[in-house]
Amino acid sequence: YFVTFEGGEGAGKSSILNAAAVQLSNQGYDVLTTREPGGIDLSEKIRQLILSNDHTTMDARTEALLYAAARRQHLVEKIFPALQEGKVVLCDRFIDSSLAYQGYARGIGMDDVYRINEFAIQHAFPDRTLFFDIEPAKGLARIASNENREKNRLDLENRWFHEQVYEAYHVLVSQSPDRFRVINADQPYEVVQADVMQQLLTGLQT
Ligand code: C5P
Repeated sequence: YFVTFEGGEGAGKSSILNAAAVQLSNQGYDVLTTREPGGIDLSEKIRQLILSNDHTTMDARTEALLYAAARRQHLVEKIFPALQEGKVVLCDRFIDSSLAYQGYARGIGMDDVYRINEFAIQHAFPDRTLFFDIEPAKGLARIASNENREKNRLDLENRWFHEQVYEAYHVLVSQSPDRFRVINADQPYEVVQADVMQQLLTGLQT
């Protein structure tokens, strides 16, 4: 069972993913947590490569191809084997991040970014995608108050960019209503966490 966690910055998806993994494990599920870009050595190197660059030196399509390459290797090396073993895979970001960030916000176009990702993932769409829905201004404010975050990149991406990303996710949700579940992330952590667990358990039991 392959689940991806999606959303803008400061939506809380990463910490809730980890908490959900602990709870599912306690309930007897065999869980693998991972993240994008990254998750394996080669893809973490690509992550470093992308995130250490700023948008003025790296062409948007080059960036999109690197994300797709990182995704491909991550799938082959880590996600496919785990799914084969019957694990529940919780992945922080996946194809929808590329469609939203590179396709929509960076202006390549979702169709073109979809095509290279279709090549990369070969129909390996998640069984479920949880979209953490919080207005960008609120999400960014959360990050600003958390000093542990790598903030360098966020400074490069302006407010408009994050509004675009947010808009893109809503387009994606409306395009794939069966795959997506919208989590209201603008609630106390415990409430969001409970909603996520409910969605995961419902999905796992059907
Ligand atoms: O989710 P996380 O904070 O680890 O993502 C790291 C950064 O990578 C985000 O700030 C996001 O802007 C960027 N990203 C991106 N395109 C993707 C995936 C992530 O621009 N496809």
